[in-house]
Amino acid sequence: MKILVLNCGSSSLKYQVIDMDTRNPISKGLVERIALQGSVLTHGTASRKKEVIKTEIKNHTQAIELVLKQLVAPEYRALKDLDEIYAIGHRVVHGGEKFAKSVIIDASVMKALKECIDLAPLHNPPNIAGIVACQKMMPGISQVAVFDTAFHQTMRPFSYIYGLPYEYYEKYSIRKYGFHGTSHKYVSQRAAVLLKRPLAELKLISCHLGNGSSIAAIRGGRSIDTSMGFTPLDGLMMGTRSGALDPAIVTYIMDKEKFNVDQMNDFLNYKCGALGVSGISSDFRDIELAAEQGNNRAQLALDIFEHDVKQYIGAYAAMMGGVDALIFTAGVGENAPSMREAICKDMGFLGIHLDLEKNKVRGEEVDVSEINSRCPVLVIPTNEELMIALDTLELTR
Ligand code: AMP
Repeated sequence: MKILVLNCGSSSLKYQVIDMDTRNPISKGLVERIALQGSVLTHGTASRKKEVIKTEIKNHTQAIELVLKQLVAPEYRALKDLDEIYAIGHRVVHGGEKFAKSVIIDASVMKALKECIDLAPLHNPPNIAGIVACQKMMPGISQVAVFDTAFHQTMRPFSYIYGLPYEYYEKYSIRKYGFHGTSHKYVSQRAAVLLKRPLAELKLISCHLGNGSSIAAIRGGRSIDTSMGFTPLDGLMMGTRSGALDPAIVTYIMDKEKFNVDQMNDFLNYKCGALGVSGISSDFRDIELAAEQGNNRAQLALDIFEHDVKQYIGAYAAMMGGVDALIFTAGVGENAPSMREAICKDMGFLGIHLDLEKNKVRGEEVDVSEINSRCPVLVIPTNEELMIALDTLELTR
């Protein structure tokens, strides 16, 4: 049984066809620069190396058309026929309060998705465009929406309501939503398997540390708090995003730099974070290298990041009354032993003792804590596509 997973961004489209018997992708790829000059499709299959196809791609419909053509192209043999696709799972960024779970897409879901556009004006429209394109091209195939926000809908009001007049929550839906939910859900489920314990009895802290980063406190398989907020700008300092700030800084900078709302949004999302502090790069590999070569601002960026992560781990352990396992995932979490080491340093009071030898691992699913560590430290490569495919299969079977 094969599931097509689509992740439509504003100018990009990531896709995978996953064989649900093996849970492995049989084909995956990426369309970039949709509706821009220099559109390109990079298509890969299990049996062949990557092919790069440069052609004009005006919109998401054309992008999906091109992808489907490659999937059934005889030279790649990913699929004999599009009928082999059992269902389609779409990553949708924002489900607001309307969706606490993945759903089969029908007319009422489409209406609700459109109502969520206000909350994610850059992300939800391309997600919807991808769904509409699939409805046109593969009308008989069931489609499922899997939301980044849904996993965090279990948070309680004291976690998600901000210190603003309550009417702003009612009028404008301003509250903490949280993101990376599909990733936090996937790694928490994997943690239960690795620990050989029921998810229902575990207190987990999941650190999704990548270009965008968030941490979640997960008790009994339910998210009880997370570091991202109304938008994915909140919480940890990230590659180019500021993370949490004293809110007065926003108006202060707007005044000093004469930024309008769009300029300020752009500034906070793309010019801050590790890039802004280091002045070098948003990529932690570049920053680590510069720090090793003695660049103080690069070291400062790493120190801030580590300090931010530690703060959340402490807060979430306090909130849950302890922690049964700490999880590291995403680009930095999976691949940066030195960052994991810095974060876990002096965490013995929580039962966290890293095994420095085991911690040398990159991108593998493994417990990197000392054998007697009360709190296992798990490196778990995230797999949002598989999580989307599993939800899709469960709902459509
Ligand atoms: P993601 O957003 O999950 O794809 O993560 C991307 C980030 O992971 C990049 O910005 C890199 O900074 C980071 N990353 C990937 N590999 C490594 C590595 N070997 N060491 C340190 N950071 C890494």
